[in-house]
Amino acid sequence: MSTNKNPFENTKNLRVRIAPSPTGTLHVGTARTALFNYLTAKKYGGTFILRIEDTDLERSDVKFEQDILDNLKWLGINWDEGVGGNGEYGPYRQSERIEIYKKYIQKLLEENKAYHCFCTVAELEAQKADMMARGIAPIYSGTCSLLSKQEADGRLKNSAPSIIRFRMPQEIVSFNDLIRGKLSFDTKLIGDITIAKNLITPLYNFAVIIDDELMKISHVIRGEDHISNTPKQIALQKALGFNIPTYAHLPLLLGTDKSKLSKRHGATSINDYKQEGYLPEAIVNFIALLGWNPGTNEEIMSREELATKFSFDKIQKSGAVFDIKKLDWINSVYIKKMSQDEFLEKALPYLEIKGLIKKSGAENYTTQKGNSVNGVWLKKVVVLEQPRIKKLSEIGDTTAFLFKDTDYDTDLLCWKNAQNADIKKSLEHSLELINNISTGNFNSTDLEKTLKDDAKSFNPQDTGALLWPLRVALSGQKTSPTPFDIMDILGKEDTLSSIKFAIKKLE
Ligand code: GLU
Repeated sequence: MSTNKNPFENTKNLRVRIAPSPTGTLHVGTARTALFNYLTAKKYGGTFILRIEDTDLERSDVKFEQDILDNLKWLGINWDEGVGGNGEYGPYRQSERIEIYKKYIQKLLEENKAYHCFCTVAELEAQKADMMARGIAPIYSGTCSLLSKQEADGRLKNSAPSIIRFRMPQEIVSFNDLIRGKLSFDTKLIGDITIAKNLITPLYNFAVIIDDELMKISHVIRGEDHISNTPKQIALQKALGFNIPTYAHLPLLLGTDKSKLSKRHGATSINDYKQEGYLPEAIVNFIALLGWNPGTNEEIMSREELATKFSFDKIQKSGAVFDIKKLDWINSVYIKKMSQDEFLEKALPYLEIKGLIKKSGAENYTTQKGNSVNGVWLKKVVVLEQPRIKKLSEIGDTTAFLFKDTDYDTDLLCWKNAQNADIKKSLEHSLELINNISTGNFNSTDLEKTLKDDAKSFNPQDTGALLWPLRVALSGQKTSPTPFDIMDILGKEDTLSSIKFAIKKLE
């Protein structure tokens, strides 16, 4: 790690970029890379650029590009320049830059720094197998690098299939990674890499260096999985006389078992997290801590706080563990922080998806039971879960009985080792007590006081003897809000009929 506190202080024009390939939906790793670039630009006064690397036409899809753009915006990771925005270095989509790449491929061919390779796939595979059998790192054998220009031109004229390879200079390529320090690579072990399938089909390592140069990227901040590409890119930059940006490779994302994060560990797409009801501010907070910390124990930080507290020298080298339990905790903190109105607004779609309510007017909903309810009632219900849930999709898990008819096993009414007769007695006691409470006092606070006092006299050793059967009679669930909160929502009449129903079940 750099000892320099501000590795960008001598950079006149700090320009960083994220360059996702639209071959899938926005991945948490890409979102993390985007966030670190975004925070770097914000903190150190730079420009954050979004480029779409869609040279792989077979795997790229506009629907994935849309997903990436939409979800970055949803996370609030906004870019200053690039696809869908401004900028004087566009186009920012690689598929629209083919003519630019072509010029540089031609330049390398003319300067004999690149050549056409006519080896067939079968030949390449045989060469590779042979090298591996001899215990050598499998690189291109170099057969076609020896062809004369005349010979190569002749084959091209006869339409012999070919690809374009870069004549890799044999040297040690070193660079000072801002996170990992000095890294050196022997290009002999890399060999002549393919840079394009043909003049109009450049490949990743080639297109990326053209764009980084022409878009004046000063710092390339990307995932550690790209380290092995960096010496290839530097060799190409040198061959074309380009500037070499400063590189910083972010630590790998790991699952809790310390292996590379993959689908096996759970969802990896931001979309999945969005659908499950993780809030964008919680996701941003969580991914900021994947490989970085503020140097204190502080863990809850808003986007704005992150932008001021972020400091590049605190990015760690070692892998960053993606712990869903931590994301759950952070999300629950943000859920608790929401105003009740905001929480209701976020919760309603989840109740609808679960089929617990259906819109039946501008302000009204119909529950699965068929009751017509309004926002006031709904707010009262959802806020009971607000302090408890980890994600919005859990809404309704402990209050579903308020929306739909549920039955339950009579055994659930049983508190500890109580016999049916005891439970019946307990419920009859509650019934009478509640029946005598005036509707004016039928609110959670008053009910709690009355019932808790009474529970103590009903069974001085164990208030559960009165309160457990009552809560189950009201909710039919093992876990639910308190009986007082439920009664408040049900109202006196429904409360009494629920208790009567439970008593009947015991007969
Ligand atoms: N298109 C590359 C990817 O999606 C990004 C490469 C880079 O940042 O240089 O992994």
